Amino acid sequence: MTESLLEQLENEVGNCINCGFCETVCPTLDPSGFSLWKGARGRVIMGRTLLEDKKKGIPVPVLSDSFYSCLDCHACLFVCPAGVNAGKVSQLSREIITTTSDRKNENPYARMIVEVTARYGNPLGVKARSAAWSEGLQFDRNAEYLLYTGNMFQLMPYTKNLNSARKTMGNAMSNFMASRVANHPSMIKMLSRMRDKEMEQKNFGTLRNIVKLLRLSGISFSYLGEKEPYPGTFIYDLGYIDKFKKYAMYVYSVLKESGAKKIITVDPHTYDLLKNTFPKYVDNFDLEIFYYLDLIKMPALQKGEEKIVYHEPCHFVLRDPRYSKPFQILSSTANTVLAKRSGSKSRCCGGPDELTFPDLSEKASQIRYEELKSTGADIIVTACPICNVNLSKENRTMEIADYLASKLPA
Ligand code: SF4
Ligand code: SF4
Repeated sequence: MTESLLEQLENEVGNCINCGFCETVCPTLDPSGFSLWKGARGRVIMGRTLLEDKKKGIPVPVLSDSFYSCLDCHACLFVCPAGVNAGKVSQLSREIITTTSDRKNENPYARMIVEVTARYGNPLGVKARSAAWSEGLQFDRNAEYLLYTGNMFQLMPYTKNLNSARKTMGNAMSNFMASRVANHPSMIKMLSRMRDKEMEQKNFGTLRNIVKLLRLSGISFSYLGEKEPYPGTFIYDLGYIDKFKKYAMYVYSVLKESGAKKIITVDPHTYDLLKNTFPKYVDNFDLEIFYYLDLIKMPALQKGEEKIVYHEPCHFVLRDPRYSKPFQILSSTANTVLAKRSGSKSRCCGGPDELTFPDLSEKASQIRYEELKSTGADIIVTACPICNVNLSKENRTMEIADYLASKLPA
């Protein structure tokens, strides 16, 4: 472990005045039954304990779930009078746990995802299947843009069924299975058949609608097909930084081999990771990263009578609360509103915890869903495959590409 990790943690937790303001916005506190350790303030207290124990050189009996259950939404930072980011405390603490001998504190699902991704270039070993959405589509191999899906829309149909299986097995058996797969990654093949076929077709349709919107805007691009790797978001988020560095180099080399200089991403997690994190870990990173909605030029859309509420993805709005391109586009076609908690006070859908803490994730998503529904909107529009799955209840949620494609002039 580098000294600077502990220094960074010290700088972050050292300013906390224990006021608890961060707890008022933390989306994991309420769904955990108001457990201190599953809220922002508890994570900062736990970070301080970790730091003190590390300085004394004693093994860490730390409640690592406190850090693993953090959604990295960064809502806490916007209300903290001392400028502390409990999300960053969680990220640094996970990194410290994974780079020291405290392996017993690792979450078995976290370890499974990391080991399988390192082996197969995809957290569930479904890289080949992830290209099936593009069957029959032609791409321009010599284009300056590369469409990079990051496999995110394609992975979502597996998580739903995987979580149902976990509930049936119970925690002990499910954690045992995850540990087995982490030790023997080829066992993932057993899980990789568990996809929700209906959701897969829907998400394949979303990717095809993204292609349609880009082409209507006059943008030509290539696509890697079955060679396209997952970007490594989970490896980074879970704190496996040494493994992430190596994996990011691999992803970068695959992207570079395509010859494209400009990368079009289709979800906020991949966009944020490539744009803001890759350059810190990949030497001489020289690719330009775009989010597809920032490139499209929409024709005049058909006006709808419906009322829409737009759920802002944390990786856009809680990184830059001024970012409003999706909301602007939607407002040109329908009466579009935001939930009471929006902008810098936006609430995460709970999605990043879906694999590691499914119960907490489900409760967090229900709370956000009720907030969105209480606006009286007919449709909830999302701009992230994870938000879309987590908020898809009562058939009233749509991905933004699908909504826009439905409003194109005939
Ligand atoms: S709001 Fe900031 S200062 Fe207050 S408890 Fe949370 S982290 Fe500490
Ligand atoms: S980043 Fe989000 S989930 Fe994590 S402590 Fe802050 S508010 Fe809570």
